[in-house]
This record gives sequence, structure tokens and C-alpha cells, in this order.
Amino acid sequence: MKCTTKRPGFECSFMTKKGCAFPGGACFEIIDKCEGCARVITTEAGKFCSVYPHPEMKWRRGVCNFATHVQPKVVKDESGKKINPLKAAKRAARRR
Ligand code: SF4
Repeated sequence: MKCTTKRPGFECSFMTKKGCAFPGGACFEIIDKCEGCARVITTEAGKFCSVYPHPEMKWRRGVCNFATHVQPKVVKDESGKKINPLKAAKRAARRR
């Protein structure tokens, strides 16, 4: 359904006939770390993310996985091959 709150006219899965179902009743504005991202949209109410209603939450545990302007840090092993950071942490823990 199309948004009628902060991003009027944009399709949103949180919009219902009774209004916005996202906690708080509307989207939250972007944070400083979002500046430069291609997913930022500007409306009369301010700047918002086009794919996630609460941008600050997306940055709480590191780089936002939807960000277009920042790449997550790639972990490489001794030979220079990319490795899964979770597996690398488990391997490192086993060596201790
Ligand atoms: S995709 Fe991530 S970085 Fe980009 S505007 Fe949305 S929350 Fe911010």
C-alpha cells in the first residue's frame, strides 16, 4: 500500500488501511552514516530510507547491509582468500 505519512506516494509493506503499522506509526529519518547512500529519499517531512523504516537500527551492528555507498569489511585468510567472518571467528577461538 502507498504511504500516507512521512513518505507519501511510496509503496510500503507497513502501510495498512488503518495507517502505518511500524512501531511509532511512521518512518524514522536517516542518520549521518546514511548520507551518500542511493536509497535515501527526500520528502517534505525530511530524508528517509526507501527500503527500511528505521535506518539507525540498520547500523547498530556494523555496516547497513542495504547501503550502496559503504562496503562491509571483507575478512581474508593468510593466503588472501575471502572467508566467512563467522567461521574465521570460530577458527580463531579454537586455536586459543
Ligand atoms: S539502505 Fe541503509 S545506509 Fe542506505 S539509507 Fe537505508 S538504512 Fe541508510
